Amino acid sequence: MEIFKDIIPINKWFDNISEYPIIIAGPCSAETEEQVLRTAIELEHTHKVNIFRAGVWKPRTRPGTFEGVGEKGLEWLNRVKEETNLLVAIEVATPEHVAIALKYNIDVFWIGARTTSNPFSMQELAKSLVGVDIPVLVKNPINPDINLWIGAIERLYNAGIRKLAAVHRGFYPFEKTQMRNIPKWEIPIEFKTKFHNFPILCDPSHITGKKELIQEVSQKALDLNFNGLMIESHCNPKEALSDAAQQLTPKEFNLLIDNLVFRKTISYNSNFVSKLEPLREQIDSIDHQLLELLSQRMNIVEEIGEYKSKNEVTILQLRRWEKIIKTRISAGINLGLSEDFVKKLLQLIHKESIQKQTEVMNKK
Ligand code: PEP
Ligand code: MN
Repeated sequence: MEIFKDIIPINKWFDNISEYPIIIAGPCSAETEEQVLRTAIELEHTHKVNIFRAGVWKPRTRPGTFEGVGEKGLEWLNRVKEETNLLVAIEVATPEHVAIALKYNIDVFWIGARTTSNPFSMQELAKSLVGVDIPVLVKNPINPDINLWIGAIERLYNAGIRKLAAVHRGFYPFEKTQMRNIPKWEIPIEFKTKFHNFPILCDPSHITGKKELIQEVSQKALDLNFNGLMIESHCNPKEALSDAAQQLTPKEFNLLIDNLVFRKTISYNSNFVSKLEPLREQIDSIDHQLLELLSQRMNIVEEIGEYKSKNEVTILQLRRWEKIIKTRISAGINLGLSEDFVKKLLQLIHKESIQKQTEVMNKK
């Protein structure tokens, strides 16, 4: 797509950001001047942070909980800029937030997941940013709708903003899951596939909701070529007024970054390429065979459909389906495949088969 062609890469946003991945860290919320400064100074000492984050207006699910300190938090962020070399970022959700934050020289804005979900809010925000040269990070919407995410970014782009990045923070889980928000990596991957050069960061703190899982999710994001990470860090997480379970101390943050493996996106080493190419050829050939086999399977499914139709038998044969699932899962496990994978694959094939047979039945 032409649209995001002239987006400015993150390493051109500021003089002191030149390398990837870029790291944004800081507390979920600004709580007190002391907490903000202490966290910022401890984070700066790690030499691993480019941008300090802290929310001053907090979107909370229920009213009556801590909703952020508001404008005075921006004064504390100005102190961070005086006392450290860090750039500062906050969340904005309304044109009023934008107007106030601009008075305080905030360096970067981010749009929260709840705001991205609402096109009216996004349009209002975009309007308030016309003519303003500030980088804006756009978190994914709460629900896994890639077009809603793209649309929100497009509104900012149409308002003239060219320093833009997407932030993957996971999606609301309708069932209880290990993580606070389901990563659904296929969505940021689709985003990257559509817009190759569009910067994308990962927020493992809001994906996981617990600090024990942040390492693993951060590594995965780096291995998928994300351009950076946004990680919540608080000088005293236990006492945090929001998101206590997912915030790392600056020391834990330091250790986490030390333990990440930063891999190259590509290697031109001739040994590497000469080994990779034949393996990729094998994959190409196997994929081709898989498709051939699936097509043959569907032809037989259609034939069975004709036969069921002639004999006035229903499409779904529960016993047969249960037997298929059971035998294939155990065969798959014997072949080293996971139960979950085999089950999902068969469910997908079965759904398509039912669709095919429904078409056959309706023809009669
Ligand atoms: C946050 O970054 O503190 C936040 C509220 O995130 P999200 O909008 O992703 O929930
Ligand atoms: Mn938070």
